[in-house]
Amino acid sequence: MTGEEVKDLTEKYVMKTYNRLPLVPVKGEGARLWDENGKEYLDFVGGIAVNSLGHSPARVVDAMYEQARSLMHVSNLYYIESQARLAQLLVENSCCDKAFFCNSGAEANEGAIKLARKYAKNKGNQDKYEIITALQSFHGRTLATITATGQPKFQKGFEPLPEGFNYVPFNDLDALKNAVGPHTCAIMLEPVQGEGGVNPAYTSYLEGVKSLCRENDLLLIFDEIQCGMGRTGALFAYESYGVEPDILTLAKALAGGFPIGAVLAKEKAAAFGPGDHAATFGGNPVACAAGVAAVESLLEENFLKKVNESAGYFKKKLNELAQKHDQVKEVRGLGFLLGMELNIEGKDIVKSCQDNGLLINCVNGNVLRFIPPLIVRQKEIDTAIDILDKVLAG
Ligand SMILES: *Cc1c(COP(=O)(O)O)cnc(C)c1O
Repeated sequence: MTGEEVKDLTEKYVMKTYNRLPLVPVKGEGARLWDENGKEYLDFVGGIAVNSLGHSPARVVDAMYEQARSLMHVSNLYYIESQARLAQLLVENSCCDKAFFCNSGAEANEGAIKLARKYAKNKGNQDKYEIITALQSFHGRTLATITATGQPKFQKGFEPLPEGFNYVPFNDLDALKNAVGPHTCAIMLEPVQGEGGVNPAYTSYLEGVKSLCRENDLLLIFDEIQCGMGRTGALFAYESYGVEPDILTLAKALAGGFPIGAVLAKEKAAAFGPGDHAATFGGNPVACAAGVAAVESLLEENFLKKVNESAGYFKKKLNELAQKHDQVKEVRGLGFLLGMELNIEGKDIVKSCQDNGLLINCVNGNVLRFIPPLIVRQKEIDTAIDILDKVLAG
């Protein structure tokens, strides 16, 4: 099929929920991507923080292939080896004690929301159900998770929304203290807001939130769907802050490019019992085999050390561009979750970068977001910076 045919079929038969760029990728390797005309791109979108190990990472592909050949799916009526192994890996390398597997980020957050409500009910708090989230947050597209998402544009047209959510400005501890009430059961935050414009939390803020949770018997939920799995330079973003959540949600990069989601919880917060929650495909053998291979890759000696080095190098280079170009207001973020806020619209910059062989995207209208594979090479970073420099110069 030609690229034109792919576009035509998509326009004709697929619901128009995405504004797609005119690009039909057909092959990927490492941090590079090729379209149907053989044109090469540096991919600093990485499937939106999914392709952390690069495109089609051999170790993950091999693990999936081997698993699929022996057993592709069984139900959770039975025990699943790769699911048990992935749970063990995640628990042994995090502050949590138990895992639940599902298939996407929204589903993981949906599970976390149910878990927090169940925790309160199990403790006899029948009227504790409210979850406080941050403005500019993003937690997914199911009804409960668009409601958790503190941005009206994702909620418009889908009313009535489920009850039990309340919003506060991000990084404002006083606002949060004032928002806690008799119905509050949990606080849910992204340590680094991704879709909301690449906004990192202040360490003092998260520390304050943790104390507030402890004082009021609230659960602290960290949505690390975008900022987890090595993205900030630590295996989990909470480690970059030294503040442990009670519930941690993961998805995106967890299985190196294959669909998966997970809810991790500390023992005291693991409130589900048999029948409380389920997903037919959750903990699927192939997804979990991919997850094991992906997590083991991140845990390889020196892997995260190298991520920190190359991400530090990239941020330094972005800051040099900020000095040089008047359109740049600020560079911010942690590890390889970086944003460049402009004082102009970002759309045309994204387009010009694509024309010049660099894929990036833009959040919040004017924040260029850089979320390359964590394995991106220094030479590739240099090329990306050169392209951006040229594009910003007009
Ligand atoms: C992408 C994302 C989600 C939603 O994940 P899906 O897999 O698209 O449902 C939730 N929270 C955060 C922080 C995300 O970045």
